[in-house]
Amino acid sequence: MDIVKLYNTQTRKIEDIISGEPDGILRIYCCGPTVYNYAHIGNFRTFLLQDVLRRLFLTMGYSVKFVRNITDIDDKTIRGAQLENISLRSFTERWTDIFHRDCEALNILPPNVEPKAASHIAEQIAMIETLIQKKHAYIAADGSVYFRLSSFSDYGKLSRIDIKQLATQSENSAGRINLADEYDRDSVHDFALWKAYKAEDGDVFWESPWGKGRPGWHIECSAMSMKYLSETIDIHGGGIDLCFPHHENEIAQTECVTGKPFVRHWFHSEHLQVEGQKMSKSLGNLFTLADLKDKGYDAPIVRYALISGHYRQILNFTLSGLDAARSALAKLKTKIANLLKKSNFSFNEGFFPQDMTYYHFGTAIEALKNDLNIPKCLGEIFSVLNNVKNVESFLEELYVLCFILGIERSIFYGEQNPITVEIPSDIAELAAQRWEAKRNKNFTESDRLRQLLIQRGWNIIDQKDRYELEKMGS
Ligand code: AMP
Ligand code: ZN
Repeated sequence: MDIVKLYNTQTRKIEDIISGEPDGILRIYCCGPTVYNYAHIGNFRTFLLQDVLRRLFLTMGYSVKFVRNITDIDDKTIRGAQLENISLRSFTERWTDIFHRDCEALNILPPNVEPKAASHIAEQIAMIETLIQKKHAYIAADGSVYFRLSSFSDYGKLSRIDIKQLATQSENSAGRINLADEYDRDSVHDFALWKAYKAEDGDVFWESPWGKGRPGWHIECSAMSMKYLSETIDIHGGGIDLCFPHHENEIAQTECVTGKPFVRHWFHSEHLQVEGQKMSKSLGNLFTLADLKDKGYDAPIVRYALISGHYRQILNFTLSGLDAARSALAKLKTKIANLLKKSNFSFNEGFFPQDMTYYHFGTAIEALKNDLNIPKCLGEIFSVLNNVKNVESFLEELYVLCFILGIERSIFYGEQNPITVEIPSDIAELAAQRWEAKRNKNFTESDRLRQLLIQRGWNIIDQKDRYELEKMGS
């Protein structure tokens, strides 16, 4: 096994990653999406970086168990279901399916376990009961349960937030404590483990020893990581915004229940900005995968652009960055297509090389092993691209790198714009006629020609102002 080194948000040091459990399995938990709408490309930056890290571990010979949850109970999912007058379950299942489809298009490996908060109410209630018994939590008059922050002296150890400073910050400019009474909490920073039922929750509630209600957000990750991984996990990931309060709260809850450290290594990725600004609906710069597809950028291009910055730096997403990603991928594809013609190299999906010697791309691999330096890795790949010492090993090494980066499908299998498949001239002619018919809004004719192409084994993928031909089954 080759050791990967990563920056640990808690110790603020770059450390070797090794499983802390006797079975040697590296246990990774990442906070997943809240399923109430399309995930945006900022969310995907985080999920993609976690995917590259996981692929790196797999390639370096680690055994990995990767859990990423689905947050299906929160104000946004409840309001969304109510607006459509459907059950919370149907609403969140639909958005979960859409999330899965986007993940598939982006070539993000599915987690080994993907638990949902709403399917783990009993586990969350059990944890809350233990916290009450141990006097780390208390029941408020309305039946909500709060974690007593003052009962956990280590609070703030991850983000190094000073709880005393928090206390002063909680006073507003008029010097009044921010609405502590309204929430019935002993201290304004105590956070909800269980939220008592309110009329606006409609039919969303579960019974509990404290009356009907629903779990607070933070407790689901503590309960589910413990159930599917262990009391102490090796790596916990999420976007940097989750560091405080979400991850601090997870630490407090879990460590007060188990009396053991919760996480050995924290992996936080920086945010994505768009054209230098925070993404927001009101600025009109919040993109989904579908928005970018409409602009002519397919998922592999988006993947490449989103992983290309260092995970500990803010990435500024621009459309010109997507164009650069398109050219970089095209350059790699062309190079590989040419070399494939000259070699007997064959790749098999899910192939993890052990103790491979890198004759060409050693520095690129080292960059990944050393704090997941993807920009350095990409720079190295392009700097050696024309320095082929041996075609077979060049392709093998490049395949490994493309697998880690998650671009192997589009580069080696010719997912789009098939690189190894020649388009016969009669097929190209039919496709051109069909495009012409479509542009002239002659839809009967364009459908007829599309059917003809399908019968001949060719699919047409329409973009906004162009089309691509794909050999079916290739
Ligand atoms: P959510 O669906 O809001 O729970 O977020 C899912 C993941 O996306 C979390 O790990 C967030 O930290 C992360 N995230 C949210 N906004 C951004 C952003 N602009 N850039 C990168 N990651 C983000
Ligand atoms: Zn979480």
